[in-house]
Amino acid sequence: MLEPYRGYPDHSHMNHQLDANAALAQRDLRHIWHPCTQMHDHEYVPMVPIVRGEGAWLIDADGRRYLDGISSWWTNLFGHANPRIAAALAEQARTLEHVIFAGFTHPVAIELAERLVDITPQGLEKVFFADNGSAAIEVALKMSFHYWLNQGHGEKTRFIALTGSYHGETLGALSVSDVALYRKTYAPLLLTPILAPSPDIYEGEPGESPEQIAARRLETMRELLERHAQEACAVIVEPLVQCAGGMRMYHPSYLSGLRALCDQYHVHLIADEIAVGFGRTGTMFACEQAAIAPDFMCLSKGLTGGTLPLSAVLTTQRMYDAFYAEYSAGKAFLHSHSYTGNPLACRAALETLNIFRDEPVLEHNRTLTAHLAKRLAPLREHPNVADVRQHGMIAAVELVADKATRRAFPSEERRGLRVYLHGLEHGALLRPLGNIIYFMPPYVVSEDEIDHLVDVASAGIARAVVA
Ligand SMILES: *Cc1c(COP(=O)(O)O)cnc(C)c1O
Repeated sequence: MLEPYRGYPDHSHMNHQLDANAALAQRDLRHIWHPCTQMHDHEYVPMVPIVRGEGAWLIDADGRRYLDGISSWWTNLFGHANPRIAAALAEQARTLEHVIFAGFTHPVAIELAERLVDITPQGLEKVFFADNGSAAIEVALKMSFHYWLNQGHGEKTRFIALTGSYHGETLGALSVSDVALYRKTYAPLLLTPILAPSPDIYEGEPGESPEQIAARRLETMRELLERHAQEACAVIVEPLVQCAGGMRMYHPSYLSGLRALCDQYHVHLIADEIAVGFGRTGTMFACEQAAIAPDFMCLSKGLTGGTLPLSAVLTTQRMYDAFYAEYSAGKAFLHSHSYTGNPLACRAALETLNIFRDEPVLEHNRTLTAHLAKRLAPLREHPNVADVRQHGMIAAVELVADKATRRAFPSEERRGLRVYLHGLEHGALLRPLGNIIYFMPPYVVSEDEIDHLVDVASAGIARAVVA
């Protein structure tokens, strides 16, 4: 059974004044409907009102501190309320807060586009802005389809996605996602993608190396392309780590093989780097580890250092040229959001890139990555841990009911939720994906703070696995 949350006294039937947390939580629950939440859970799971952030820490209304082990949904890179980004934003707010982005432009978006083209793989030269990750996926899917249409290939209407993939939750993005929790209910509304088996190492055969798994999965992809390339616009993947699907990881050789297959069969490659971009896997972009350039690269989350919603789709001159014609040809790409290219968001992104430029971020992350790996290693011996995996600043621990057979805990037992609650009681924000406890801290985390995260998670795991 789920233990009651002990760090958060229930004052609801008491007569004296509520503490500040409880008062805010009560007001919140009166009107707010939260994302990714069965709201009924808040009858026993606390709603945590955060009033301030500082480095890797979040501070609640009663002054309790939580180490942000998940970068607030994988967005934060350089700490909460980062002073450099805050100063840039304040200045931008006094200069230009927003302007329509059709017919009008502004220097911050221009510089940001130049800088993004500079740091992303060769060949990506055009930047289309949107305002969140799912929107970027919609843009990439529509652009890919529309490219083929403009080339006289209107028969290409389908997309190939990997099992276990997650690309967002608007209808188009959800269509190419394969996480049942998000997809199942809405399936009747969605496009039907062609699903290819993920090169996920955890699902490999015993004794198979990550490269062998990648090679075997590429063979299946080749067969699918052989059959479906004529009707397929693009293959969409999350490079190296399928994050929402359970932090499942795969070998870079899959990406280089996939690039070659997409070229051979005339199908685009969409790299969704929304979660893995901006240094998460050890290189600025995960695609770099396979030395490939996709036809479309989607960026968001870390793009603004975790301060404001913004996304960008980078693509090639060739793609752009297929839309470039006299107005009367009717080939223009039609997609817009009111806040496309918002100057504040662009300025936050620019300052984030300035931090990457001025500080040895990736080099420093290698030290943190090694420390995290060292601290997580002992968990491999735990009788309920089937796997400890890591790719740069993303690490995950897979809890199972039975180590030998890797039999999973039934999801309704909600073991991960126990780890979450234990984390809240002990000053850490850990938000497991089902039975997968993961670590994706901001890059400003210290080694001591990593120790704290791992210690809390380990104790939380010990509590979560008991009957
Ligand atoms: C989070 C995420 C998205 C969706 O981004 P939102 O801004 O939440 O819509 C898409 N793809 C991947 C890989 C993600 O992790």
